[in-house]
Amino acid sequence: MSATLLNGRTLSATIKTELRTDVQRYQDTHGHAPGLVIVRVEGDAASGFYSKAILKISRELGVEARLELLPEQTSAQELSDLLLRLNQDPRVHGIIVQMPLPAHLPQDLVINAIAPEKDIDGISPVSAGNLVLGLPGFQPSTAAAVIEILKRSEIELAGKHVVVLGRSNVVGKPLSLLLLQQHATVTICHSRTPDLASFTRQADVLVAAVGRARMVTAEMVRPGATVIDVGINSLPEGGMVGDVDFASVQDVAGALTPVPGGVGPLTNVLLLRQCIEAAWRQAGPEAHH
Ligand code: NDP
Repeated sequence: MSATLLNGRTLSATIKTELRTDVQRYQDTHGHAPGLVIVRVEGDAASGFYSKAILKISRELGVEARLELLPEQTSAQELSDLLLRLNQDPRVHGIIVQMPLPAHLPQDLVINAIAPEKDIDGISPVSAGNLVLGLPGFQPSTAAAVIEILKRSEIELAGKHVVVLGRSNVVGKPLSLLLLQQHATVTICHSRTPDLASFTRQADVLVAAVGRARMVTAEMVRPGATVIDVGINSLPEGGMVGDVDFASVQDVAGALTPVPGGVGPLTNVLLLRQCIEAAWRQAGPEAHH
């Protein structure tokens, strides 16, 4: 038996087509495009790859995006002044700050400085609180991408047992809350969970968001289960793999996302979807589609 591949590239192409229509409608209604700003502080840890990918998708969709590139020695005050200006700029509807920041800049500063209505990657405490309470708001885009891939692949979540490996603020935790909203029974595992396989083998849907190359092996997967691989791991010998051992798991799982080409391609498209949504919301309830 070989698992059905859940192709993130095909899904992201479909969503992009939907979004281009939505951006055109926004443009026709308001005379300008939705606006996005990516803030990046130069430094060893931050690569330009992420911002380039987002700028490219923005161009494809007709979203007006620009990069604010700050030098490595930027102070906390300068960064928060910039975020304040962007919060007040009516042409900027979505703000993202590329992480990680250089060590001298506290991440809390950014998380607290972005206005919740422009927080399109759902990193602020207000966005996190809205998610917990089930109120409208923006969600971390990787978590949203996992839900999107499951929904569009018509994989039932209500009443199913979903096991999530990982409890980070950007993936595991928000994803678990989104799964609860979909009426799944959710188990969250992490580095202190003993006998991981005893949990993973119970999963109807297994999501790996750990950051350890090929750690989920065939024996950990219940035959026929859906396996979603969020992991992105570069190998010392070159190349990139997920958290799932694709070669062995594809013979056991019912459906499986590849890496690359699974969750990754959807993540940035959903970030852009939330930016377009932010632009509509900021235009007022009467302008809403
Ligand atoms: P973090 O390092 O922030 O979190 C990893 C989580 O995995 C933690 O909760 C940790 O537990 C848990 N963990 C670590 N080791 C084990 C283990 N042996 N058994 C069980 N759980 C373990 O990573 P992120 O959540 O940011 O990212 C996870 C993966 O997803 C990475 O590979 C990352 O590159 C990828 N990623 C992919 C994205 C995409 O677009 N596709 C976007 C974002 C991330 P504990 O909390 O106890 O430390």
